[in-house]
Amino acid sequence: MQPVLNLAPADHHRILAADPLSLPFDLNEIFFSVQGEGTRAGIPCVFVRLHGCKLRCSYCDTKYAIDRRAGGLSVSGADIDQRVREYGCRFVEFTGGEPLEQPNVFALMKYYADEGFTVAVETGGHVDVSLVDERVIRIIDMKTPSSKMLPKNNYHNLEILRPHDEVKFVIGSREDYEWSKKITLEYDLPHKTAAVLFSPIFGTVEYKQIVEWILEDRLDVRFQLQMHKFIWHPDMRGV
Ligand code: SF4
Repeated sequence: MQPVLNLAPADHHRILAADPLSLPFDLNEIFFSVQGEGTRAGIPCVFVRLHGCKLRCSYCDTKYAIDRRAGGLSVSGADIDQRVREYGCRFVEFTGGEPLEQPNVFALMKYYADEGFTVAVETGGHVDVSLVDERVIRIIDMKTPSSKMLPKNNYHNLEILRPHDEVKFVIGSREDYEWSKKITLEYDLPHKTAAVLFSPIFGTVEYKQIVEWILEDRLDVRFQLQMHKFIWHPDMRGV
């Protein structure tokens, strides 16, 4: 199946030529917290959550940010930039929803990289990530079987990884684990990325069990828990 969105190079050039601060965005929220996942877990970060996602993963924990009809806030890049700078933090992550479904974000990510920020984007794995600026850390969330979105995965993304990228698998069953292991080995992910993250679906699978499977298989991956769901209430927004 084709990925949901592929940005043509000509459109990409047009977007990058525009002033990123004048471009429009559909925003869900901006907040300041600690990074809850991945190799930078625990580090303060400004999160820019864009609104809307074409997928409907069974385990989605940001359902309030996926329905375009419910509407986000119409803002400009300048509006976002003003809020981001108010926090005085040099680490910014774009998330969603699916941030890469709004092509203008390519220009805004480049802008922050040019400004010397550490920039990350968390993307659902269905959108082509090849045109993301080289300095941006791409955290690619591959869709496991229990997501019910398996056919939407864009496997080409796993062939164009950069050493600072991270690939995440959200695991809710043995089937999810076996599928994640297969993809990890098939694409040799541990040697191509900064981290391969095996992340249990919060509250649905015994964490110890996943750890035991990883150890039994001598799998070169990183088990992780979503730190923010332990610090705050699991349903709390803006953390
Ligand atoms: S891709 Fe992410 S935001 Fe979209 S439905 Fe799946 S989990 Fe939710």
